[in-house]
Amino acid sequence: MKIIRKIEEQKKYSLNMKCRDKKISLIPTMGFLHKGHLSLIDTAKELSEEIVVSIFVNPSQFGEGEDYEKYPRDEKRDLDILADKKVDIVFIPTAKEMYPEGFQTFCQVNQLTKKHCGKSRPGHFKGVTTVVLKLFNIIQPDIAVFGEKDYQQYVIIKRMTEDLNLPINIIASPIIREKDGLAMSSRNKYLNHEQRKEATVLYESLIHARNLIKQGKHEISLLLKEMSNLIESKKNARIDYINFVNPETLENVQKIKESTRILMAVRVGNTRLIDNMEVKP
Ligand code: AMP
Repeated sequence: MKIIRKIEEQKKYSLNMKCRDKKISLIPTMGFLHKGHLSLIDTAKELSEEIVVSIFVNPSQFGEGEDYEKYPRDEKRDLDILADKKVDIVFIPTAKEMYPEGFQTFCQVNQLTKKHCGKSRPGHFKGVTTVVLKLFNIIQPDIAVFGEKDYQQYVIIKRMTEDLNLPINIIASPIIREKDGLAMSSRNKYLNHEQRKEATVLYESLIHARNLIKQGKHEISLLLKEMSNLIESKKNARIDYINFVNPETLENVQKIKESTRILMAVRVGNTRLIDNMEVKP
């Protein structure tokens, strides 16, 4: 496994792979790796020979007062995990390498970013699309794999790729969960014992909604009430949003008629957790 820290070196490496007709898959991450990240690598390995994992805690996607400084980092552990996983390249630039003095250009998807997580985290997705576009330009992947865990992010990246005619195939990989249903996330580390127990309520409320839908209950207001009651019964949990949306446009739906995604964000203590699930009538 090769560790690359400089943009120019990564560009050269990618060009060399292209000349040899090798397909490159990119898995962008912010590190502090868990089984969710590793499942994206497994998805990528089925699709191409050359696997590049990037590790970069991207300052431009964190708002003021968010957790950029304290976001968990453990480079040595991540590199050991990736070496075990036999990836080809780890691209791990510094913030200065990615955003040198004078940097002032951003990429923005206009509508999809205004809703859901974009409401409570203004500017977040602008930071995400900018860094992902930079990674695409540097690494020149044929395929890029994103987790459905960050469903809105996946839809936004797909939109950007289509709108800007990027020759990259965007692949979604399913959510990996802990045994008790909590979606794996680097931020779960912030939860204390009591909060960790209560955090399963996101998944439980999604399953509850799915079961009600299976019983023929398709009114969004009822489903919302049921989910909210469950979540609000937990001492440390506060709902940021729960929305029932069209899986492509991310527009809210009024009734469950066809495949719908439930998107949600809940604060457990000071930690903002997100989750989502596909439901069908
Ligand atoms: P992050 O390091 O949190 O920025 O995540 C990097 C990539 O891993 C993103 O595409 C995430 O959607 C994906 N990811 C994070 N957690 C999970 C999970 N539990 N299951 C599947 N994909 C995940």
